[in-house]
Amino acid sequence: MGLWGKDIARTRYVGNVYTNQLSSIKKENEALQRIASRCENCSNNDYYSIYETFRLFRVLNIPLVQCDTVYYFSCPECNFGFKLEVDEYKFLERIALINSKYLEGSITKSEFEISLKSVRK
Ligand SMILES: [Zn+2]
Repeated sequence: MGLWGKDIARTRYVGNVYTNQLSSIKKENEALQRIASRCENCSNNDYYSIYETFRLFRVLNIPLVQCDTVYYFSCPECNFGFKLEVDEYKFLERIALINSKYLEGSITKSEFEISLKSVRK
Protein backbone atom coordinates (compact mmCIF):
# COMPACT_ATOMS: atom_id res chain seq x y z
CA MET A 1 0.00 0.00 0.00
CA GLY A 2 1.26 3.45 -0.86
CA LEU A 3 1.68 6.22 1.63
CA TRP A 4 -1.60 7.82 0.66
CA GLY A 5 -3.73 4.69 0.51
CA LYS A 6 -5.50 3.27 -2.50
CA ASP A 7 -8.76 3.24 -4.34
CA ILE A 8 -11.10 0.31 -3.95
CA ALA A 9 -13.85 -0.29 -6.50
CA ARG A 10 -17.10 -1.65 -5.14
CA THR A 11 -20.34 -2.84 -6.68
CA ARG A 12 -23.45 -2.94 -4.56
CA TYR A 13 -26.44 -5.00 -5.64
CA VAL A 14 -29.53 -2.92 -4.89
CA GLY A 15 -32.33 -5.31 -5.93
CA ASN A 16 -34.67 -6.31 -8.74
CA VAL A 17 -37.39 -4.46 -10.58
CA TYR A 18 -39.88 -6.68 -12.45
CA THR A 19 -40.83 -5.98 -16.05
CA ASN A 20 -44.58 -5.92 -15.24
CA GLN A 21 -43.94 -3.26 -12.58
CA LEU A 22 -41.93 -1.26 -15.06
CA SER A 23 -44.59 -1.41 -17.77
CA SER A 24 -47.40 -0.30 -15.42
CA ILE A 25 -45.26 2.55 -14.05
CA LYS A 26 -44.32 3.72 -17.53
CA LYS A 27 -48.01 4.14 -18.34
CA GLU A 28 -48.39 6.62 -15.49
CA ASN A 29 -45.03 8.28 -15.17
CA GLU A 30 -42.56 10.03 -17.47
CA ALA A 31 -39.56 9.14 -15.34
CA LEU A 32 -38.56 5.82 -16.87
CA GLN A 33 -39.24 6.29 -20.58
CA ARG A 34 -35.63 5.47 -21.57
CA ILE A 35 -35.93 1.99 -20.12
CA ALA A 36 -37.77 -0.58 -22.21
CA SER A 37 -40.32 -2.66 -20.27
CA ARG A 38 -38.50 -5.75 -21.44
CA CYS A 39 -34.84 -6.03 -22.32
CA GLU A 40 -34.31 -4.31 -25.68
CA ASN A 41 -31.58 -6.81 -26.54
CA CYS A 42 -33.18 -10.21 -25.80
CA SER A 43 -36.76 -9.47 -24.49
CA ASN A 44 -36.40 -12.60 -22.38
CA ASN A 45 -36.17 -11.10 -18.93
CA ASP A 46 -38.73 -11.11 -16.13
CA TYR A 47 -36.84 -8.47 -14.19
CA TYR A 48 -33.84 -6.13 -14.24
CA SER A 49 -31.13 -6.07 -11.60
CA ILE A 50 -30.17 -2.67 -10.22
CA TYR A 51 -26.60 -1.91 -9.16
CA GLU A 52 -24.55 0.89 -7.74
CA THR A 53 -20.80 1.08 -8.26
CA PHE A 54 -18.39 3.46 -6.60
CA ARG A 55 -14.81 3.91 -5.57
CA LEU A 56 -13.74 4.09 -1.96
CA PHE A 57 -10.58 5.94 -1.24
CA ARG A 58 -8.97 4.33 1.78
CA VAL A 59 -6.11 5.31 4.00
CA LEU A 60 -4.74 2.63 6.33
CA ASN A 61 -7.80 0.46 5.65
CA ILE A 62 -10.23 3.14 6.77
CA PRO A 63 -12.74 4.00 4.03
CA LEU A 64 -12.72 7.77 3.74
CA VAL A 65 -14.58 8.97 0.72
CA GLN A 66 -17.07 7.40 -1.65
CA CYS A 67 -16.62 8.85 -5.10
CA ASP A 68 -17.44 8.32 -8.78
CA THR A 69 -20.76 6.70 -7.97
CA VAL A 70 -22.43 5.18 -11.03
CA TYR A 71 -25.85 3.59 -11.18
CA TYR A 72 -26.84 1.03 -13.75
CA PHE A 73 -29.24 -1.78 -14.45
CA SER A 74 -28.78 -5.04 -16.32
CA CYS A 75 -30.80 -7.83 -17.83
CA PRO A 76 -30.17 -11.12 -15.95
CA GLU A 77 -30.49 -13.11 -19.20
CA CYS A 78 -28.01 -11.34 -21.47
CA ASN A 79 -26.37 -8.68 -19.25
CA PHE A 80 -27.55 -5.87 -21.48
CA GLY A 81 -27.91 -2.64 -19.58
CA PHE A 82 -26.85 0.98 -19.40
CA LYS A 83 -26.03 3.69 -16.96
CA LEU A 84 -28.98 5.24 -15.15
CA GLU A 85 -29.51 8.91 -14.50
CA VAL A 86 -29.81 9.74 -10.81
CA ASP A 87 -33.58 10.38 -10.97
CA GLU A 88 -34.13 7.08 -12.81
CA TYR A 89 -32.05 5.29 -10.23
CA LYS A 90 -33.93 6.86 -7.30
CA PHE A 91 -37.19 5.65 -8.78
CA LEU A 92 -35.97 2.11 -9.46
CA GLU A 93 -34.20 1.88 -6.10
CA ARG A 94 -37.47 2.52 -4.23
CA ILE A 95 -39.22 -0.27 -6.16
CA ALA A 96 -36.28 -2.66 -5.74
CA LEU A 97 -36.19 -2.09 -1.98
CA ILE A 98 -39.93 -2.72 -1.67
CA ASN A 99 -39.51 -5.96 -3.68
CA SER A 100 -36.63 -7.07 -1.43
CA LYS A 101 -38.62 -6.41 1.74
CA TYR A 102 -41.54 -8.40 0.40
CA LEU A 103 -39.32 -11.31 -0.66
CA GLU A 104 -37.67 -11.33 2.78
CA GLY A 105 -41.13 -11.45 4.38
CA SER A 106 -40.66 -8.23 6.32
CA ILE A 107 -43.78 -6.63 4.80
CA THR A 108 -47.15 -8.20 3.99
CA LYS A 109 -48.68 -8.44 0.53
CA SER A 110 -51.04 -5.51 1.23
CA GLU A 111 -48.16 -3.36 2.59
CA PHE A 112 -46.24 -4.33 -0.53
CA GLU A 113 -49.07 -3.19 -2.81
CA ILE A 114 -49.64 0.06 -0.89
CA SER A 115 -45.91 0.85 -0.99
CA LEU A 116 -45.75 0.24 -4.73
CA LYS A 117 -48.70 2.55 -5.34
CA SER A 118 -47.03 5.35 -3.42
CA VAL A 119 -43.89 5.01 -5.58
CA ARG A 120 -45.82 5.60 -8.80
CA LYS A 121 -46.90 9.10 -7.91
ZN1 LIG B 1 -31.55 -9.25 -22.17
